[in-house]
Amino acid sequence: MFRRAVYMFRWLQLMIGLVRRALIVLFLLSLCLCACDSQPVTEAEFFAQRKTMVEEQLAAPGRDIKNHRVLDAMARVPRHEFVPKALWKFAYWDEPLPIGYGQTISQPFIVAFMTEQLDPKPTDRVLEIGTGSGYQAAVLSRLVAEVYTIEIIEPLAKRAEADLKRLGYNNVKVLAGDGYQGWPDHAPFDAIIVTCAPDRIPQPLIEQLRDGGRMIIPVGPPDNQQLYLLQKHGIKVEQQAILPVRFVPMKRAQ
Ligand code: SAH
Repeated sequence: MFRRAVYMFRWLQLMIGLVRRALIVLFLLSLCLCACDSQPVTEAEFFAQRKTMVEEQLAAPGRDIKNHRVLDAMARVPRHEFVPKALWKFAYWDEPLPIGYGQTISQPFIVAFMTEQLDPKPTDRVLEIGTGSGYQAAVLSRLVAEVYTIEIIEPLAKRAEADLKRLGYNNVKVLAGDGYQGWPDHAPFDAIIVTCAPDRIPQPLIEQLRDGGRMIIPVGPPDNQQLYLLQKHGIKVEQQAILPVRFVPMKRAQ
């Protein structure tokens, strides 16, 4: 009876030892997996992800982005550099992503679509309202001569300015302020792109658009917004709603 109890006790000890070892191995393995997961992806991998993004989200049937210069810019601008590092693995997904201060970087398709609608020319001077991360400005920077961009949240403006400079987008000027008023010192602009939604099209922006220039702008409340494309012909402004969208509201300086 006593020997049997000792035998059972040893057997139990052995089993506990085995389970403990298995748990330790599992724990180390999961640590390893986590570490691998947070390893930075190489530039070559990011490049491949951008190529897939262009093929599957932008040029694919149904999305139909056709302008080769726009597709090329989208394939080259490192979107991951404009999102928090913790989100790098989602940088080339078909989604908007948070960039802090309650704001978001737009979905790649929306960036490409709005850029294509502006029909950017290498000699253009473009105004952007709503710098956010600076990503849209970086895409434009590759396509036009000069980009002027205004952001109302000062820390975002500062961060975007630093990121754009660090990445060599030297033809972009960033201003912290209320974009509703535009940037009269540098007007008129060949094109204006607005990436936050006012209730109606700000008059100062229409005034700062050159004759023949184009503006793309979301208008309306978050649950009922339309993207408008405007073209200015003298005192006449032609406008058409081209896509239902969802942008953050345009704030006004107090
Ligand atoms: N184009 C950005 C995304 C824009 S999100 C990108 O590529 O990342 C919209 C941005 O508009 C937010 O950062 C918000 O702070 C800014 N914004 C809102 N109202 C504004 C205003 N009146 N003037 C300038 N920027 C404004």
